[in-house]
Amino acid sequence: MENYPSYLKPSNRSALKTKIKETYKILESCTICPRRCGVNRTKDEKGFCGVGLNPVVCSYMPHHGEEPPISGTKGSGTIFFSFCNLKCAYCQNYRFSQEGEGRIVSPERLGDMMLYLQELGCHNINLVTPTHVMPQILKALDIAIEMGLNIPLIYNSSGYELPEMIKILKGIMDIYLVDMRYADKKYSKKYSQAEDYPNFNQESVKEMHRQVGDAEFDENDIITKGLIIRHLVLPNNISGTEKVMQFISKELSNKVCISLMSQYHPYYQAYKYPEISRRVTKEEYEKAVECLKQCGLDNGWTQDSCGLERFAGVNIKKNV
Ligand code: SF4
Repeated sequence: MENYPSYLKPSNRSALKTKIKETYKILESCTICPRRCGVNRTKDEKGFCGVGLNPVVCSYMPHHGEEPPISGTKGSGTIFFSFCNLKCAYCQNYRFSQEGEGRIVSPERLGDMMLYLQELGCHNINLVTPTHVMPQILKALDIAIEMGLNIPLIYNSSGYELPEMIKILKGIMDIYLVDMRYADKKYSKKYSQAEDYPNFNQESVKEMHRQVGDAEFDENDIITKGLIIRHLVLPNNISGTEKVMQFISKELSNKVCISLMSQYHPYYQAYKYPEISRRVTKEEYEKAVECLKQCGLDNGWTQDSCGLERFAGVNIKKNV
C-alpha cells in the first residue's frame, strides 16, 4: 500500500522532524500531559510520572493476547513503557507502571526494538503507556524509519492525555487503542489521582476519532487504521459505563469498536478500598453489556463468564 503507514507519506515524514523539535522543547518545562509538572526533563528532572529524559522500557515482545485484529496471527509488536501519568490503585501492571521496573533506553535503542519486532513479523508496533514519553518515541521512530520501519504504530494509552498533544500525532499514529476509564471525576480522583480525567479523556478521544475515524481492516482482518476504545468494567459501576457509552454514541459514532473488558482483578492497593476489592459480578458485567446495546453500539468485543471474547460487530469476522 503506497504511503502506508501514514508516517511514510512524504509530508508526514518531513513534519516528523519538526514535531520532534517541538515536543523536546515542551520537555524543558514539561507539559506533555494534563499534570503539567513544569520540570525540565531534558535535564533529567522528574515530575509526577517519574521519568526523566530517556524512557524506561519494561519489556518488548510479540503479544498474542490483544484484541484479534491487533494481535492477528503473528502478534502485535508490543513495547511496555515503565511508569505512568496515572496512579490507579488497582493497576495490574503496578510493578512497572508504579514501581518502575525496567531499563532506561536511548531513542536509538528504542528504534532498534521497533525494528526487531518488525523483523519477527509482528503486524504493528504497539506502544503501551506512551503518553509521558511521546517525544522520545517520535525520535526513535525517525531513526527506525531511516532503517526501514514500515509497519503501523498503535498508540495504546490510558487516555489521560492533552488534546493538543494528540493533535501533534496526526499523520504519525494510524491506530489509537485508548481506555475510557471513568465518567465521574470523583472516582478518577479517588482511584487514579486524576480528578480532571473525564474531561481530558473525552476531549482527547474526540481528537483521536477526528484523526483516524472508525476502525478499518485489511483482507486478513488485521486493523490498518482507526480507533478502538477499551472500557474496563469496575465493581459498583465505578467506571460509569452508561455515561461512557452515551458519550461514544452521541459524540463519536455508533460504529466505534469497543472492547468491553470484564477481567478486573483487585491488584496492587485495591485492598484498601472495600468497594473495589473484589472482581466484577456476572450481573454487573451483563448490565454493562446492556448499556452498550441500549446506546446502539454493536461493534467490538464483549466477554463471557470464562473470559472468552464474543464478537458482536459488523466490520470484522468472529474470532470464536
Ligand atoms: S509527562 Fe510526566 S513530567 Fe510531564 S507533565 Fe506529565 S506527569 Fe508531569
